[in-house]
Amino acid sequence: MDQPATRLNEILDRIAAAAKVARRKADDVTLIAISKTHPAQRIVPLIEAGQHVFGENRVQEAAEKWPALREADQGIDLHLVGQLQSNKAEDAVHLFDCIHSLDRSSLVSALARAMDKAGRQVPCFIQVNIGAEEQKGGCAIADLPALLDEARVAELPLLGLMCVPPAAIEPAPFFALLGKLADDNGLAGLSMGMSDDFETAVLLGATHVRVGSALFGAR
Ligand SMILES: *Cc1c(COP(=O)(O)O)cnc(C)c1O
Repeated sequence: MDQPATRLNEILDRIAAAAKVARRKADDVTLIAISKTHPAQRIVPLIEAGQHVFGENRVQEAAEKWPALREADQGIDLHLVGQLQSNKAEDAVHLFDCIHSLDRSSLVSALARAMDKAGRQVPCFIQVNIGAEEQKGGCAIADLPALLDEARVAELPLLGLMCVPPAAIEPAPFFALLGKLADDNGLAGLSMGMSDDFETAVLLGATHVRVGSALFGAR
């Protein structure tokens, strides 16, 4: 089990099993393979095994790795899951097909401008600081309604909400809370769940799970 391509099927099976328990369709859950820190030669076997959705957390790293990989396979869907500085919004809009880290007003305007300029709509998740942790990215729960309004006024394409719950405690209550916030605000997408907790996230409605180390091994 130490090749990414072998692990891929195991993870897809576990997603399907969790979806079944929740009476959901496995197809309604997108597995994003988080390839940050891993070189192209570790990524290619996964693409060859049929995985087309990948995630990176740094604009610079994605710019170095992905143009060549995309050239080899036109069907890649690349997601940004890490914090985004406003001055990198234009690069992000060119490089990525989806952005999971929209978390503040200044980024709403920077992304709206960048999308206009590029003539390219990149769907976004609003990241919520679900555990109210000081160091963590994401907008405060109390600020979510205002940020959503701004994003809607700016006509950013919104898929839903994203979170990274606090480490080392049971994530289920945080996933459930993100689901409730999405419901309350009329959003369908839920980007939640990582290597250690993606099955729990699927049980609680995740539409996108972001799995790195369980696929690629430790970073
Ligand atoms: C690295 C990362 C992941 C994947 O984490 P693993 O524990 O390796 O699965 C998911 N989401 C975000 C935002 C990340 O930065």
